[in-house]
Amino acid sequence: MKTWIPEIRKFSYLNWKQVEALPKDKTLLVLPTAAIEQHGHHLPLATDTLINNLLLGKALAKLSPNASVYALEPVCYGKSNEHLGFPGTLSLSASTFMAVVRDLGASIAAAGFRKLALYNTHGGNSSLVDVLARDLRAEFGLRTFALYGSGGASFEGLNPQERAYGFHAGEVETAFLLNATPELVDSSVYTANYIADVANPKPLLPENAAATFAWLTRDIAKSGVMGDPRPATAENGHRWVDAAATQIAAMLEAMLAFEDPA
Ligand SMILES: [Zn+2]
Repeated sequence: MKTWIPEIRKFSYLNWKQVEALPKDKTLLVLPTAAIEQHGHHLPLATDTLINNLLLGKALAKLSPNASVYALEPVCYGKSNEHLGFPGTLSLSASTFMAVVRDLGASIAAAGFRKLALYNTHGGNSSLVDVLARDLRAEFGLRTFALYGSGGASFEGLNPQERAYGFHAGEVETAFLLNATPELVDSSVYTANYIADVANPKPLLPENAAATFAWLTRDIAKSGVMGDPRPATAENGHRWVDAAATQIAAMLEAMLAFEDPA
């Protein structure tokens, strides 16, 4: 898989003597979690994994060279059962995903590390990542952090409908890939579809509401797209990648400096 992680930030490029010598109290490891799943007719299965690597790589490149932060290899497969029924979606069960991340956390703690960030770019993993961050804290004493998507970056020029319901293969994901891997975007087959309408709010929403309904993509979006990729541009993608990387870099620095409240 294509990577934007600077080589000096790759944990897997170290040897064990170098790992042994790292200042464990002052080192942050980042475990990316993503997915291999359908992203409509126009984006590849690896979209969430590519975006994770792109945003994290650009964020790591913004850190001071002496910040001890290393990216682990990603857990590319996630809990993607909302996208089953579309050829190519490869999903782990919740229990398998949690067992994989828990076992990695056990190895990381056994090596003496103290700080671990879970960086997730697939919505279907989010609730599991929340649980894992707390469980790894409780079970292994790791200072764990959970970081999601674009780190809360606000994307200039994105309309409110897309901001709220551009969940999947919409304008933002398409713009990111138009910027980073245009050869993987087929702009001749864009489709648009929304799961809800900001102008016509309903009592039950799919996400981010007090009461939600559980959704499966195949019930609501035949093409697999939830959002509108048509306005996406590589130029916006470039600006939005930089905005997200700036936010993520600031959060990684905060995690590196974080001390538990006394
Ligand atoms: Zn995605």
